[in-house]
Amino acid sequence: MENKFKFYNTLTRNIDTVIPNVEGKISMYTCGPTVYHFAHIGNLRSYIMEDVLEKSLRYVGYDVKRVMNITDVGHLSSDADTGEDKMLKGAKRENKTVMEIAQFYTDAFFSDCEKLNIKRPDVVEPATNCIPEFIHMVSVLLDKGYAYEAGGNVYFDTSKLEDYYVFSSAVEKEQLLEGVRADVDVDDNKKNSNDFVLWFTKSKFEDQALKWDSPWGVGYPGWHIECSCISMKHLGEYMDIHCGGVDNIFPHHTNEIAQSESFTGHKWCNHWFHVNHLNDQSGKMSKSKGDFLTVSLIESKGYNPLVYRMFCLQSHYRKPLVFSYEALDNMVAAYNKLAKKVAELKNEGEVDQEVFAQYRAKFEDALCNDLNTSMAITVLYDVVKADTNDATKLALINDFDYVLSLNLYEEGKKLSETPANAGVDAELEAFVLAKIEERAAAKKAKDFATADAIRDELLAKGVAIKDTREGVKWELV
Ligand code: AMP
Ligand code: ZN
Repeated sequence: MENKFKFYNTLTRNIDTVIPNVEGKISMYTCGPTVYHFAHIGNLRSYIMEDVLEKSLRYVGYDVKRVMNITDVGHLSSDADTGEDKMLKGAKRENKTVMEIAQFYTDAFFSDCEKLNIKRPDVVEPATNCIPEFIHMVSVLLDKGYAYEAGGNVYFDTSKLEDYYVFSSAVEKEQLLEGVRADVDVDDNKKNSNDFVLWFTKSKFEDQALKWDSPWGVGYPGWHIECSCISMKHLGEYMDIHCGGVDNIFPHHTNEIAQSESFTGHKWCNHWFHVNHLNDQSGKMSKSKGDFLTVSLIESKGYNPLVYRMFCLQSHYRKPLVFSYEALDNMVAAYNKLAKKVAELKNEGEVDQEVFAQYRAKFEDALCNDLNTSMAITVLYDVVKADTNDATKLALINDFDYVLSLNLYEEGKKLSETPANAGVDAELEAFVLAKIEERAAAKKAKDFATADAIRDELLAKGVAIKDTREGVKWELV
């Protein structure tokens, strides 16, 4: 098949055409979540865009095999192997065992993915399943002279590589400096400041719950080794696409490349796909900040999670995206309007194959051109307005939804079948309308705290309000 899918490759700093190692097949690896807490909607932005990438590759005809790890051991608070153990922190916070925490948050992660129509990767592998593979890779790295033992731990020796900073990107340099600033807890065992731990035996954590026997003593793996081993276990020594959020570029992906290529002795992965961050108005979203935005939270405020998916698709994956409820409210209006229009289409007439092919090609072009999802949605709007019959429009919308996964038809049917506030008693209705007016006055006076408090007060009574282009709408939840 013709290779025409292009995206920005962080490794070459170019928009490269994806050339798979085996014609027609793509092997793809995604760094999975660290399951010590709920995923925030920032993490999920990365997983939504990676889902769209996978589906787009399938859409254009590739046979894709996608693997994801679940980090349930070894990830310390700082990506540079310092600070607290994230899993242990979660277990202490909730008075549970590390494995209970891992199971609970893995399930929560996939439940969020389901709500956002994120397909489960073909293989999902928890790090704790692969201890023998980690031990094997560390042994080979030691044998080949790329690793050393110091103070009880095994470290990767970055000075053995001619070019350790493979990405040599602005992001890498920036994260390097950030790491230096954050790295107050200097590890004297390291020969070079960027050496990283492959295997810990001398744990700082007396109460480390998960430990395994190894040739270097009882201990546990470093974080980076898991992605190298898990990807090779399922995809072999040559991989086509590796993805993650931009914060993974350094040190995580840099270290993955260092150890994988030292292990195999050849180039490992050709194409690196990184999704930029979702920020809130105060800066980068982070789980360690404690109070963070989750899918459940936005759902409890009355939002359909698929509106958040559309919010992500309307922006390019390489640009930072700022989240606000105001922006999400605008997306609710756009999503509902579009969904209702789609649901009004009647499945009548014959599909016009020529028109179908013409719009499908435009949609494909948008995706093949550095995953331009907002352009792909514009093509969808064009289909809705197009001068063709409803059957053709529905066939195209259904076809596009393989990639976009916005469920527009089904959601639109629901929206038009249920009057937003059917069966509400008159007293409640009067109360809600008065509150909506009060909120509008507060918003006009720029008193957003009061406006939000009114929204929450209504929600507590089971009433969700949404700002739409046609005014404020409300419904029982
Ligand atoms: P973690 O669970 O912390 O290992 O992160 C899971 C994924 O989310 C990784 O691919 C991160 O790069 C990505 N990520 C972390 N923070 C953000 C953010 N604010 N916006 C988008 N992606 C993020
Ligand atoms: Zn990884």
